[in-house]
Amino acid sequence: MEFERISKFFGAHRVLVDLDLQVQPGEKVTLIGPSGSGKTTVLRLAMTLEKPTGGDIRIFGESILFDSAGKPLSTSQEARIRRRCGMVFQQFNLFPHLTVLQNLVLAPTTVLRQSKEQAENTALEYLRMVGLEGKVHAYPAQLSGGQQQRIAIARALILKPEILLLDEITSALDPELAGEVLDVVRGVAHETKVTLLIVTHEMRFAREVSDRIAVFDAGRIIEQGSPDKIFSYPECDRTRAFLQSVL
Ligand code: ATP
Repeated sequence: MEFERISKFFGAHRVLVDLDLQVQPGEKVTLIGPSGSGKTTVLRLAMTLEKPTGGDIRIFGESILFDSAGKPLSTSQEARIRRRCGMVFQQFNLFPHLTVLQNLVLAPTTVLRQSKEQAENTALEYLRMVGLEGKVHAYPAQLSGGQQQRIAIARALILKPEILLLDEITSALDPELAGEVLDVVRGVAHETKVTLLIVTHEMRFAREVSDRIAVFDAGRIIEQGSPDKIFSYPECDRTRAFLQSVL
């Protein structure tokens, strides 16, 4: 995925400034930086939940904003592109009136038009991956926050996105429950080829799971590099100040 000279304004407020970011297929990239520096906005742009004010975004070569003639994509073209990305949010967003299985088969049967049987078989496979095959018939309210978030991850993966966007997925959880969610993501990172673009305030997790870390400050990437470089040998004063404030 490539972000090319992306700028984003909300009214007069400039949130992203000529941002360039490349993420290679299969790469695990984590965005860190102070609150309000624009990290979540980058994920929302990738998911076409927001439109940039300027610049282009490509998913491995193909623009998610413009067609080959440079015209804005139609709604149906945009829907097709959007399916290449999956996103998990801080709040789990499961449907409360549906069981775990019903939550998991909803999109495959409606969006991908899979048969119920096929969708249920795949759902069980992914439930095993996140360690919750015993909760097939539970309702979200009967699950812990960590379990709900693991279901939300399974639900995103079922649609086989090329890129999975994880937006502060443990921020609403107690440390113990956050740990089990991060274990699931570690497993996904190691066992699948999915490209991961992560926003997190969990620096230990960022260090363990990422191939590359990009440090945001006031709408710009001020430095990027391997976790080792960023955490052990940061070059920018502002990276050092940020890390000191969170570590
Ligand atoms: P955090 O770590 O606190 O989640 P962040 O780095 O993810 O922060 P963003 O959520 O991308 O930051 O927000 C960047 C800036 O854009 C913030 O100042 C925020 O208030 C502003 N912003 C985000 N979304 C909107 C919106 N829909 N309308 C107006 N301003 C917005």
